[in-house]
Amino acid sequence: MPATPVVVTISQPDLAHAGVPVADRLRVHPFDHPVVDAMNLGITRGDGIFETVGIHRGRVQGVEEHLARFARSAAMLELPEPDLEAFRAAVDLGVSHLGDVEDAYCKYVYTRGIESRSFEPTGYAFIDVNPDWTRERTEGIAAVTLTRGYPLDIAQRAPWLLQGAKTLSYAVNRAVLREAARRDAEDVIFTTTDGYVLEGPTSTLLLRFGDEFVTPTPEHGVLVGTAQLGAFEYLASHGHRTTYRDVRVEELAEADQLWLTNSQRLAAPLRRLDGREFPVDRTFTAGLNTFLRVRS
Ligand code: PLP
Repeated sequence: MPATPVVVTISQPDLAHAGVPVADRLRVHPFDHPVVDAMNLGITRGDGIFETVGIHRGRVQGVEEHLARFARSAAMLELPEPDLEAFRAAVDLGVSHLGDVEDAYCKYVYTRGIESRSFEPTGYAFIDVNPDWTRERTEGIAAVTLTRGYPLDIAQRAPWLLQGAKTLSYAVNRAVLREAARRDAEDVIFTTTDGYVLEGPTSTLLLRFGDEFVTPTPEHGVLVGTAQLGAFEYLASHGHRTTYRDVRVEELAEADQLWLTNSQRLAAPLRRLDGREFPVDRTFTAGLNTFLRVRS
């Protein structure tokens, strides 16, 4: 049976829906059915949040970590507290419609509502098959470092910039990928103006130094990556040391291996960074990705 991508809309638990069971607040629509108002603040201002979860044969990966980050992002944007059970149910409902797909994803979105008409938040989820990431996961990817234009402590100095929240304002994160393509690369590692590394535009950086695996600390305005959390769980269970700390740009060249991790592409090894070649350990990466794919 072919996969059936769908959109699930979630009506909010407002007065009109008080006491209505979650299942009765969800509606399934065909993928191409328009579900969002033209004046929705998510579209007109990027004023909202989202999560993207990976799904392997109907099993949703990192469910709790994604919901926890969703709630944190909502709090940072001062959005009404999202109904996490409704979002969880929307993902499950979408998954049940998609069919038995090897590799899929679900993106769920929560916006501030409709500009100048209603500030009741909008929630929906869409579920579809993943692109084929086999090449990226096995052969690796080429990346470049690009400045984020901030110093390392910007999250503390200017919390209104919402560093560390997963907002819908991703135009910059997409612009840097076009810049990477102009530099013959397919991904990016953001750096700070004072010489530290942050994260990718849609991923977390993982560095290997011998037996120790390091990721930039989330205190400094990078997202807490759910795939990275899973990777640390896997690495610790295999006897490796795992460390959160600030990472200087010069350390990239000293690392034995590098990966960019996220929920959709999982762990993609870097085969080249800023023109420097890095070794790709296919067996190790395959073991890590098998773990990330089947964890719940
Ligand atoms: N950092 C940013 C900016 C992201 O957009 C993402 C995911 O899209 C990540 C990190 C990785 O997060 P996760 O592993 O939860 O997918």
